[in-house]
Amino acid sequence: MRKPKIRELKEAVKSLVSKPYTTKFPYQEHIPFERFRGKPQFNPEKCVGCGACAIVCPVGAIKLEDRIDENRTTGMRKLTHFSGLCIFCGQCEANCIADKLGIKLSREFDLAYFSHGEDAHSVEHELLICQSCGRIIGARKHLVWAIRKIGHLSFAQGILLNINQEIIEIKSGIEDSKISRPLQRTDIFKLICPQCKREVFLLDENIKP
Ligand code: SF4
Ligand code: SF4
Repeated sequence: MRKPKIRELKEAVKSLVSKPYTTKFPYQEHIPFERFRGKPQFNPEKCVGCGACAIVCPVGAIKLEDRIDENRTTGMRKLTHFSGLCIFCGQCEANCIADKLGIKLSREFDLAYFSHGEDAHSVEHELLICQSCGRIIGARKHLVWAIRKIGHLSFAQGILLNINQEIIEIKSGIEDSKISRPLQRTDIFKLICPQCKREVFLLDENIKP
């Protein structure tokens, strides 16, 4: 038999006098260590609905769904996290544009469920829809976030200008503006998507889109 090395002897003596690493969970409450990576939780106050977390998640544990009504005038974005699929890597939190506060890994570890779906939790955000073609422009809260980020530069962009009008409570460009058919130059100040805006510019320059 090989003789034990000094290092192994030291380790054996140490473990005789130190507390065990294992706990008596579920018979006793278990408190995870401070940097434990548990279930990611959305913070509806901080999340802006950009969808970056869903894009970076390596296992597709965050699902992004955009739902628009039949008339294509209103819509909602729903982000759902499924803890049954999550590998707790922390990429969603690390890449969250809302100062890493829109989604955060909690210390919750007891994640046993009886069926798929029970492991889900979600946040919802209002979508802005192009008044001309009905395409999705983005989540309203995300655009407000962009305005706060770039400050006065946002007045140079048509969509952000519309949102700015709402924020500073001047006449809202969104509700009462009617889109001309076909699109005209003045329509670039209304709530239209970048594709329609491009169409207006091309028409204005007499170039067929
Ligand atoms: S912790 Fe990782 S696996 Fe889980 S939702 Fe976030 S990015 Fe996806
Ligand atoms: S703000 Fe953060 S949590 Fe919300 S959708 Fe964007 S990346 Fe995800």
